[in-house]
Amino acid sequence: MGVIWEPELDSAEQRWLDVARDLSERVFAPRAEELDREQRYPQEHVDELVKAGLAGLFVPEKFGGSGASFHTTCAVIEEVSRACASTGAILTAYALGGTPVLLAGTDEQKERYLGAMAKGNAVSFALTERGAGSDANALRATAERDGDGYRIRGEKIFIGNGGASTSYVVFARTDPAAGARGISAFFVDRDADGVVIDHYEDKMGLRGTKTSNLKLDTYVTDADMLGEPGRGLRLALNTLNAGRVSVAAQSTGVGLAGYRVAAVEAARRITFGRPIIDNQGISFPLADVATELSAARLLTFTAAATYDRGGDISNLGAMAKLYASEAAHRAVDVAVQVHGGDGYCKPNVAERLYRDQRILQIYEGTSEIQRLVLGRAIAKEAAA
Ligand SMILES: Cc1cc2nc3c(=O)[nH]c(=O)nc-3n(C[C@H](O)[C@H](O)[C@H](O)COP(=O)(O)OP(=O)(O)OC[C@H]3O[C@@H](n4cnc5c(N)ncnc54)[C@H](O)[C@@H]3O)c2cc1C
Repeated sequence: MGVIWEPELDSAEQRWLDVARDLSERVFAPRAEELDREQRYPQEHVDELVKAGLAGLFVPEKFGGSGASFHTTCAVIEEVSRACASTGAILTAYALGGTPVLLAGTDEQKERYLGAMAKGNAVSFALTERGAGSDANALRATAERDGDGYRIRGEKIFIGNGGASTSYVVFARTDPAAGARGISAFFVDRDADGVVIDHYEDKMGLRGTKTSNLKLDTYVTDADMLGEPGRGLRLALNTLNAGRVSVAAQSTGVGLAGYRVAAVEAARRITFGRPIIDNQGISFPLADVATELSAARLLTFTAAATYDRGGDISNLGAMAKLYASEAAHRAVDVAVQVHGGDGYCKPNVAERLYRDQRILQIYEGTSEIQRLVLGRAIAKEAAA
């Protein structure tokens, strides 16, 4: 039993975690520094995830996946993120792209897209635009009626896994006059005419992942619509409700990696004739980090279990994402500080984690947006 609180896993969950831990220790962790240095997408890691049944972990067995719960998925995302933040982010992007299909797909769509995902052909979630990130309802991409289908025009930015995935779920306006109820979701194939990745982002961290800019002037058929017309924004927000919990798990994993290197270094480094951990100036921040990561885990796994039971996680998921991403930030900051000058220089693990962590407070809803969601819920409760 370690210092950090551990979730109780049943035997099936534990088996998946063991598979993830084995791959993480043997394959992912040893390559994490190289991926960051070379800014290289680790196709060989994706192949391992597919072979082990982890790429389609959350996909129901009848659609070709492993049929695990969201709770299990979060445990695996945390474990992989602890070893290699980029590989953990790729796995999280799989879950993000798969969720709208699970929530709104027809059986044919699930069979096609989720089955492909389990084989490593991921779907990317394409919501964000230049003027529409936090404020998704400001999106300007359009899907105009064209014969038996729609012509989608617009630009999507910051597409996680874009270029590696084989299709996108694109959110576009089918009825510009209908506001939030005028947005619909569509499957768009990576190789279709008029689907162009015009650049990849050169990022601070998660440098083993692909994040792309997508220009669209392409045709889709009616059968490519995902969910009901006009219900796209609701689908995107419901997807992000679950996505926030996956990012919370990712955050806890990165935070745990920071905590571990900090604790080991604090026990190893001698100054003034004794290990620096003997100073409360070092051991107290570590105690705070251990407490906060335990709390982050409690929130994350409770939110995931609530989701599996069909409960409402709109507030709990926001709390988990907000708290875990900020706890991870404090953990990696302590890790840099404990390493002194080494913590500021490559190829120190704390230096890499510090950069990998930063996005966790931004994507799938910034910390401010999580506070906004919670603030609105508090106001509603108070007025009731
Ligand atoms: C590496 C990476 C991967 C990503 N992956 C995906 C993906 O797969 N799919 C996808 O669709 N998007 C993706 N995104 C986009 C990401 O979700 C957005 O960047 C994020 O939601 C913030 O939107 P924005 O960048 O437009 O910032 P803005 O919305 O412009 O926000 C700027 C700042 O203002 C703050 N702010 C905005 N509104 C308010 C308010 N009302 N009150 C207080 N503060 C406010 C924000 O918190 C932020 O600090 C990714 C981004 C990155 C960098």
